[in-house]
Amino acid sequence: IKILICTGTGGFASGAQAVADAFEAEFAKQGVEAKVGKRCDVVGTGCRGLCANDVLVDVVIPGQAAVTYDFCTPELVPQIVEQHVIGNQPIEKKVAGPYYTKFLEKQKRIVFSRCGTIDAESLDAFLEHEGFTGIKKAVKMKPAEVIDAVKRSGLRGRGGGGFPTGVKWGFCAATPGDTKYLICNADEGDPGAFMDRSVLEGDPYGLIEGMMIGAYAIGCKFAYVYCRAEYPLAIKRLQKAIDTCYEKGILGKDCMGLGFQLDMRIKAGAGAFVCGEETALMASIEGQRGMSRPRPPFPAVRGLWGYPTNINNVETFANVSYIFYNGPEWYAAIGTEGTKGTKIFALTGKVKHTGLVEVPAGTTMKEVIYDVCGGLLNNRKFKAVQAGGPSGGCLPEAALNAEVDYDSLIKAGAMMGSGGLVVMDETTCMVDIARFFLNFTRVESCGKCIPCRIGLKIMLEILERITEGKGQEGDIEMLQDMAIDIKKSSLCGLGQTAPNPVLSTIRYFRDEYEAHIKEKE
Ligand code: SF4
Repeated sequence: IKILICTGTGGFASGAQAVADAFEAEFAKQGVEAKVGKRCDVVGTGCRGLCANDVLVDVVIPGQAAVTYDFCTPELVPQIVEQHVIGNQPIEKKVAGPYYTKFLEKQKRIVFSRCGTIDAESLDAFLEHEGFTGIKKAVKMKPAEVIDAVKRSGLRGRGGGGFPTGVKWGFCAATPGDTKYLICNADEGDPGAFMDRSVLEGDPYGLIEGMMIGAYAIGCKFAYVYCRAEYPLAIKRLQKAIDTCYEKGILGKDCMGLGFQLDMRIKAGAGAFVCGEETALMASIEGQRGMSRPRPPFPAVRGLWGYPTNINNVETFANVSYIFYNGPEWYAAIGTEGTKGTKIFALTGKVKHTGLVEVPAGTTMKEVIYDVCGGLLNNRKFKAVQAGGPSGGCLPEAALNAEVDYDSLIKAGAMMGSGGLVVMDETTCMVDIARFFLNFTRVESCGKCIPCRIGLKIMLEILERITEGKGQEGDIEMLQDMAIDIKKSSLCGLGQTAPNPVLSTIRYFRDEYEAHIKEKE
């Protein structure tokens, strides 16, 4: 019998440790193993997505479907143990309601398939669930064939840009040189985004395997995971997994006896949003201030310490393992023409079931918000969803039928970004939202180039005066002109996308800007 307890950051914050301790204590007190004649384990898993209803507990009795309890507390544990574990009668009143079935129904949990179902810290549990079978298949192929398989899968980078992963690997592999680096970008800085954290906490070995496949294909002997220091649990679990891999010979001079070398290290970032940008990230690893530099040269040619470097984000590498478990054709059959596989979204804001969802590309925003996450809190009216973090855009109700797909979202005026979705209701002021996101990017600007450093400051001043009822005629046009100029002339992705929330709110909610300006008159 297994008691699976969500012990991701969300679970811990809601009291998962006290619940786990209560189960251990109750098992001993009631002599449960002797009574049921079976071994009983309390297993700490990664996040299973429904963070709003933590602490989530699954009681898994062999031969029966798992039963999920939500909002579980230590006080409820003696009753679950007595009535359910020993008596085999679930406490119906406390079992997660039909919304939980709905929450899972439209999801396709590939990257998250081990999160919430296995012991996140156990190598044995990982091995029992296909672990390292992907790298074993990959090394039977030539590196170029591995890259070709990733190309055929159609995988696109999940960090935001959506660049084809196999093509990117091919660039770095084709650059001459014996020293090459592989970097996993785990600097998840968007407000409201926590997909990568969840993968790191819930399936750290899965990430390591994806990186091993990438390193073998490209010819990298050294890999970094650049993870923000604000993710202590993710760093702890990943470090433990890396240490175990070294102990077992999975990483090091001859990985698993498969004939290739890979060393791996975590570099904790200090929390600057701009360090999510590739060149700033590499500067930070090198010990310099995290600032972007012009490209070309691209990292594939001249990256970390001047050597060819390939950078992908956590979700991208995590997908790679599954592509090799099941084959590129299997992966390519999921999703849309332009976006294959699934995408993980972090839902926050005025939505009933906040948390993490993984859906096939092509699912509509409406399905994600209403069918998976239960619609809006207090049944208020939907106003907008901010897709793609501070660099994305705000989509109105009319755009809710936009598919979760790189191209459809760009057409609608947003972007997939890393996958943050902030839901807003009728009480939200959209000018204020634009001001909030612009303030975020202004504060996080590294200051190297003038359009971003000064331009965002001026745009913010205009937004502030509009929200304070001091707006002037021509302010909206000024914002639009400046936004376009900043996008065109900024050095890196931060500045090039920072004006997006302003442009999309003007596009869809211009009347709110005008109302603020009129208020003053
Ligand atoms: Fe720095 Fe902004 Fe210029 Fe990027 S666009 S280099 S963040 S000032």
